Amino acid sequence: MNVVDSEVVAAILQQHQYRVCDSLEEADLVLVNTCSIRDNAEQKVRSRIREFGRLKEKNHSFSVGVIGCMAERLKEKLLEEENTVDLVVGPDAYRDLPALLQEVESGQKGINTILSLEETYGDIRPVRMDQNHVTSFVAIMRGCNNFCAYCVVPGTRGRERSRDPETIVGEATELFSRGYREVTLLGQNVNSYCWKEGGSLLKFEKLLERVAGIDPSFRVRFATSHPKDMSDDLLKVIARYPNLCRSIHLPVQSGSTSVLERMKRRYTREHYMDRISAIRKYLPEATISTDIIAGFCGETEEEHQQTLSLMEWAGYDFAYMFKYSERPDTFAAEQLEDDVSEAVKSRRLSEIIELQNRLSLESKKRDVGLTFEVLVEGTSKKSSQQLYGRTSQNKVVVFPKKDLKPGDYTEVFITDCTSATLIGS
Ligand code: SAM
Ligand code: SF4
Repeated sequence: MNVVDSEVVAAILQQHQYRVCDSLEEADLVLVNTCSIRDNAEQKVRSRIREFGRLKEKNHSFSVGVIGCMAERLKEKLLEEENTVDLVVGPDAYRDLPALLQEVESGQKGINTILSLEETYGDIRPVRMDQNHVTSFVAIMRGCNNFCAYCVVPGTRGRERSRDPETIVGEATELFSRGYREVTLLGQNVNSYCWKEGGSLLKFEKLLERVAGIDPSFRVRFATSHPKDMSDDLLKVIARYPNLCRSIHLPVQSGSTSVLERMKRRYTREHYMDRISAIRKYLPEATISTDIIAGFCGETEEEHQQTLSLMEWAGYDFAYMFKYSERPDTFAAEQLEDDVSEAVKSRRLSEIIELQNRLSLESKKRDVGLTFEVLVEGTSKKSSQQLYGRTSQNKVVVFPKKDLKPGDYTEVFITDCTSATLIGS
C-alpha cells in the first residue's frame, strides 16, 4: 500500500515540476513514507531521519518530509521530536503537498494530517517506480473499519472507502497496454469492497471479474482477505478465471478462539478452518499464506499451542510472523494488559518461524517434478544467466535465461528447491 501511495505522491508532485531521482546526493527533497504497524518500524524510520539530518548539515537547501501512517499518528509531535523534519503529511492529504512544500521553501514547517471520508486518489495515475515493468499494484480501497484490538490502521488511515471501479479498471488496462502482465489489487479488507452503481451495489467478486476480463494473459492477485468476510462466491469466481492467481492470503493472527475474541477479529478457529476447507474445495491447486502474531495480551501456553496446531493443519505455504507490539491508542493498549514477557514472545515467535520454515520447505518439495507456467520478472540476483519469475501460486522460480525476457510466460519444469525458491529448467 505504501508503494502505491509513493507512486501517487510522485504523480502529484510531477504535476508541479518535481521529478523522482535515483540518488540521495541528487535530491533536494526526501519524503519518507512510513509505517506504524509495529514499534520497530517506527524506530527504523527515526534512525533513517537522523541520517538525513547529517546530509542536511552539508546541504542547507535539502528538505525532509515524513508522510504516511507515522505522520498521521504523531502529527506535530514529529516536528517537535525530530528537528530534521520540515514536513508532516498524513495518508489522505497528499494533494496538499505542493502547497505545503511552498511553505517549506519559505522557511516554515508544513503539516496536514486531516483524514478524509472520501479521498481515494481515484483520478490520479501513479508514476510507476517498480523496477521490472511486469508486476504492479492498484489500490482499490483505503482505510479500514474493522478495529482489530491490536491495530493502528483504522486510526492512521481512517474509515474504509472503495474506489470507483471505472478508475480501477482504467488503471489496470493502462498497465496491461504498457506491457505489465500482473496486477495486485490492494485493500485492508478487499472482501468488503463495495461501490454503488445506479441502484445496485458492485461487490469485490464483480470487480475481480472485470479486471480479470482485461486479457487472459494479465494475471490478477489481491490482498488482503479477511476470514470473516471471505465467501464461497469469491472462490467460485477465481475458479472460473485461470488468470486469477491460485494463491490466497488469509491472515489468521492466532489459532485460538479466545485470543481471536480478545483481538476482536470476529471469527473463531472453526470458522477460519471452514474457510481454509472452502479454498481447498474450490481451488485445490491454490497456495495459502497467512499473518500470525505471537504473544498477544493474555496469550497462554495452550493458546500458543493452538496456533501451532492450526498452522500444521492448514499447512501454510508461506507466512508473515510477528511478535505482538503494543500500539498507542488501540483498544488493546487501552483495555488489555501487554502481559506476555519479551522472552516468552520471542520463544513463541521462534517456534512459529521454525514450524513455518518446515511447512514452506514441504510446500516447495511438493512441486519438484512438476511443470508450472511462470511469468518472467527479471534477472536472478545470483547469476546473470538465470532469470526469476513466479508461478500462479506465488512461488519464486529460478531458471536458465535462454532467449526469454521479463514479461514472457514460460513453462518451467521444477528440478529442485530451497525453503524460499523453486529451481527449474
Ligand atoms: N488488513 C490485513 C488483515 O487484517 O489481515 C492486514 C493489515 S496489517 C497492515 C498486516 C499485519 O500486521 C497484520 O495482519 C498483523 O499480523 C500484523 N500486525 C498488525 N498490528 C500488529 C501489532 N500491533 N503487533 C504485531 N503485529 C501486528
Ligand atoms: Fe488492522 Fe484488522 Fe483492519 Fe487488518 S482488518 S487493517 S488488522 S484493523
